[in-house]
Amino acid sequence: MEDKIVQIGKYKVKVIRDACIGAASCIAVSPTVFQLDGENKAVIQEGAMDSEENVLMAAQSCPTKAIVVIDAETGKQVWPE
Ligand code: SF4
Repeated sequence: MEDKIVQIGKYKVKVIRDACIGAASCIAVSPTVFQLDGENKAVIQEGAMDSEENVLMAAQSCPTKAIVVIDAETGKQVWPE
């Protein structure tokens, strides 16, 4: 299954499902954006809203670097570096 990409502010964000271990640190940092689904994998909420800084922090909190953040304008990957 293709990992879903959601735009939040200037970022495009996706969770690599295969890399997610359900540690839920992303949810602790940004519960409006990330939630666990029935398979204990993080999913991004439809129409998710949060500050760009907080979304990036949530991505950086993930122990397996399962959250990828891309600058939508430049196409550059911001995280993981
Ligand atoms: S922090 Fe990473 S491993 Fe944990 S639920 Fe979020 S995406 Fe998955």
